[in-house]
Amino acid sequence: MYDAVVIGCGPVGALTANLLGARGVRTLVVERSTAPHGQSRAFSCDDEALRIYQQAGLRREVERDTHQPRRAEYVNARGRVFAEIALDEVDFGLGAGPLHLFDQPRLEATLRRGLDRFPHVTLRTGVELTGLTQHADHVTATLHDTRVEARYVLGADGARSTTRAAAGITLTGASYAEPWLAISGVVEPGAVRVDATRFVCDWRRPAFVSPGAFGTYRMEFMLRDDEDPADMTRPDTIRRLITPYVDPDRFTTTRSAVYTFHHLIADRWRDRRVFLLGDAAHQMPPFLGQGLCSGLRDAANLTWRIAQVLRGDADDALLDGYEAERRPHTEAMATTSVRLGRVFLVRNRFGAAVRDTALRLAQTAPWVRRAIRHFEFKPRPALPGHHAPVGTMFPQPSVAVAGTRVPLDDVLGAEYAVIGPGVDASTALDWRGPVARFVRVARPGTPAPADITTVEDVDGTLTAWFAEHGRDLVVLRPDRFVAS
Ligand SMILES: Cc1cc2nc3c(=O)[nH]c(=O)nc-3n(C[C@H](O)[C@H](O)[C@H](O)COP(=O)(O)OP(=O)(O)OC[C@H]3O[C@@H](n4cnc5c(N)ncnc54)[C@H](O)[C@@H]3O)c2cc1C
Repeated sequence: MYDAVVIGCGPVGALTANLLGARGVRTLVVERSTAPHGQSRAFSCDDEALRIYQQAGLRREVERDTHQPRRAEYVNARGRVFAEIALDEVDFGLGAGPLHLFDQPRLEATLRRGLDRFPHVTLRTGVELTGLTQHADHVTATLHDTRVEARYVLGADGARSTTRAAAGITLTGASYAEPWLAISGVVEPGAVRVDATRFVCDWRRPAFVSPGAFGTYRMEFMLRDDEDPADMTRPDTIRRLITPYVDPDRFTTTRSAVYTFHHLIADRWRDRRVFLLGDAAHQMPPFLGQGLCSGLRDAANLTWRIAQVLRGDADDALLDGYEAERRPHTEAMATTSVRLGRVFLVRNRFGAAVRDTALRLAQTAPWVRRAIRHFEFKPRPALPGHHAPVGTMFPQPSVAVAGTRVPLDDVLGAEYAVIGPGVDASTALDWRGPVARFVRVARPGTPAPADITTVEDVDGTLTAWFAEHGRDLVVLRPDRFVAS
């Protein structure tokens, strides 16, 4: 019997299996395809996503393959920038910049390589889930060639999830009427004509374009009502569309596909021992680049709970917190994404003129300008039903340990952590909670006692945080939210 079976080895399933592997959970991953997806769909991720890859021990490998744009700009039909996010001025304190562009095939390869670190994690490709039977203390997963038993099944099998159907869970929401053409490719040096991450808010043809990592370039174009999706991937059509952005003679298309975007959410994310994550649980339009990021947050929220319950450190009720916490945040992201889409997707000349004028006027108010420029409209990581600092994500500055600079989370480990200037050896002796690491925060130059891990707060972030919240220690969950 496995502890967990993960259905699907897309980016969410692969990360889920890595996080379970890092916590010693005996895991089987089954993936229907014989080869990795190999094609770019998701293109951007955020600071929280990198922090989650870090929990899986893969941050350096993932980050090495990313490109950080300095600006994201919104331009109108005349090519004038009417709103701009200054990404290089934004620091939400989580230990990474707010936007990173990546190449999905490379990301998926990194995540799959990560699984090789764990002898207790097995990946079987070319294997399809066809059905599920739930029992009091386990689940039987019927695969096309055999049956396996597990304590839990985690369905990360994408938009058309078999896990979701087998658990009798339905989706609620809507689909966008207009399809989009997404083109990915590689551009030769010097052949880029628009070297910016740009939302082209042209009412005649809304589009998104951006250079990416490793000389890649992504372009997405909304189709007009009279256009046939089958014609849009023809080389002459692609050439016509991409010419304003790259030199078409020096651009090699690696992928072109027509997509319809959805705003859908599963009515339940849990059915007894079966859970849904990623696109299986929710799908949102990509205008905020949060579809995959939301799935990564699902994995970070659910996996530590599963590990705790399997170890006997918590009872089943802990697992109910997964949907209770993740659903509101996902809905907030999807709503913000839909609102951005409304700004972006105005389809008539008059509406676009009104939008441009309204946004120009609104930005004469400094707080509106700042909210846009500094990306303050993006929902922050927060758990519902708590008073700050409980339920907020703890900052991640760079700290010094025995003279070496490291990102804080590397010191905190994969389990609970108790951290603060007031942590000492007696904190650990008095602790009655789950497995935890104890970390003392000290000002630079303070002698470190030998009996407790001490981090030097090099830039003063942690000292300021504890002073602001009037605490001398806090308990952090494994996903770095403040628990108490
Ligand atoms: C054009 C476009 C642009 C996007 N841009 C972004 C972006 O910039 N940032 C972002 O965060 N998100 C973006 N997204 C969304 C993102 O691509 C998805 O949210 C993400 O890929 C979902 O990952 P997943 O692992 O949940 O599902 P998937 O990637 O769909 O993986 C599911 C896996 O499960 C397997 N599977 C399915 N059924 C079974 C079965 N019965 N048995 C076994 N295996 C099975 C499949 O073969 C597949 O490998 C974009 C999406 C699109 C279409």
